Parts: sequence; structure tokens; C-alpha cells
Amino acid sequence: MRAFAGRGLVVVTAAVLVPLFGCGASVTPASAPSPAIVPVVASTNVYGDVVRQIGGDRVRVVSVITDPAQDPHSYEADTRTRLELSRAEVVVENGGGYDGFVGDLLRSANNSSAEVVNAVEVSGMYRPGEEEFNEHVWYDMPTMSRLADRIAAALATASPDGSDAFRKNAADFKEKLRAVEDAEARIREDHAGAAVAVTEPVPLYMIEACGLRNVTPPDFSEAVEEGDEVSPRVLRETLDLLADRKAETLVYNEQTSSPQTERVQQAARDNGIPVVPVTETLPPGKDYIAWMTDNVDALGRALEK
Ligand SMILES: [Zn+2]
Repeated sequence: MRAFAGRGLVVVTAAVLVPLFGCGASVTPASAPSPAIVPVVASTNVYGDVVRQIGGDRVRVVSVITDPAQDPHSYEADTRTRLELSRAEVVVENGGGYDGFVGDLLRSANNSSAEVVNAVEVSGMYRPGEEEFNEHVWYDMPTMSRLADRIAAALATASPDGSDAFRKNAADFKEKLRAVEDAEARIREDHAGAAVAVTEPVPLYMIEACGLRNVTPPDFSEAVEEGDEVSPRVLRETLDLLADRKAETLVYNEQTSSPQTERVQQAARDNGIPVVPVTETLPPGKDYIAWMTDNVDALGRALEK
């Protein structure tokens, strides 16, 4: 009786152990748990791409502004954005008034635990109260370099297991940024002081890094940025600049165009001044580094003409 029961126990135990072992081995091996995926929201696909470069397969990134036909300065957030922001563990915003909807939605969604990375703050360039601050800091390579480290740190807070990988990816990203800075330095060597015009401030940090001089009437580029009508006097001044060939190149923001910027572009073409198109957000099919490399190369080629 006792021997029989004993044999029965052995059989039962084996029957229970086998499926447990099989299940454990194939789905969740205790020695290597699959890493938690960090939910991230980036206000534009520029920052979304940088997060993806640094987070790799340990992040799930939602970029809010991605449409190349949309002017990000006049973006209005929808309910899906609100939902994504309520769940995000890491949020990357530009700041400086560019994407104020991010902070507003985080507050209204009561998400106070997300790690928020603000690129304008990271840049260290903004002085409180500064009215004409150029918020397009993603055209500034030193800012993007610091931002890479800051994003790696925010992701590591959300997912400590990934901290080594995030740090390494950030270092790789910064190495690629240095190649863009080298290209800027080469332009500076050959063309320092060259006059260029812009339709909108988006490329100005890159223009400065290339040692070039922005000769656009500030009232023109500011009105375009704000989506305002340019006064006839300022428009005339800008058209004359090109007619008189006082700028070697026109850098044209395709994402903030209007009939007035198109007139300025036409004036550049009529006078044989090369036009370099740029955008606010990441063009489809490119990553941030490829995009910035193309921008600086296009600027260099235009100045050679
Ligand atoms: Zn802009």
C-alpha cells in the first residue's frame, strides 16, 4: 500500500514537472528576462529619431509631429497625443515655446512621473525673458550632443538594465555628430563671413556654426515664423537684398512657406542665387544624422557656386 502510493507520487510529480520545465525554458528563462520596453513620447520626429538611436529596441517611441506638410509652429494636439503622453515614462520636448502642448497635456493627464527632457533647457542658451530666442536648437550640434547624454540618462532612470546600452548608443551618436561639425568647420574655413539669407530662423544655428552671416531683415524671418503677413516695406527690403545679390545663398524653410516666401525664393532664382531647402521635421526615409549631413552638404555646395 505504502509502496504503491509512493510510486503514484513519483508519477504525479514527474507529470507536473515536465510541462513546467518545458514552459519555463521556452518562454521566460529565469537567467535572461526580456527587458522592459520604455514608452516614450517625442514632440517631433526629430527627437523621436534621436531617442530611437539611443534606446534601440528597449524603447517604444511615439512622435507627435511627423507630417512634412504641417507647420509645427501652428500644431494643435489631438486626443491620441493626450493618451500617449498620459502613459509615457520618458518625454522629449523642444521647449522655448515651440511645443508648449506637451507640458499642457502632461499636466492635464496628471502624468508627473515621466522623465521630461527639454532640448532648449539642455542647450543652456536661453536666458529667461529673452524675446527673440531662436528655439530651433536641433540645428545646433553641441546641443544635440548634450541632449544625447540627457536622453540616455532619462532612459536609464526608466530602465536601469539598459543603462550601459544607452550610454554606448549615445556615444556612437555623438561620434556621428562630430562628423557633421567637421563639415561645418570645413565651410567655415572656406567661406567665413559669407552673407546668406533665410526665410525663417530654422537653420540659423547651423549657419552660425559655418561662420556665415545672416543678412535677412529680422522682421521678415520672424513674421514667417509666426505665420504673420510680412509688411510691404520689409518684403521689398528682402527682395532687394536678392536683386542686389547681397546674399550668396537663400536657405528656404519649405515647412513654413507662404506666397511671400515663394516670391523671395523666385527672386533668388531670378538672380542666380542658389536656394537650399530645409525643413523643421525629419524628412521621410532619413535619420537625424543623414538629414543634418545632407543639410550641411547642400549649404557647402551652394556656397561653391
Ligand atoms: Zn520654425
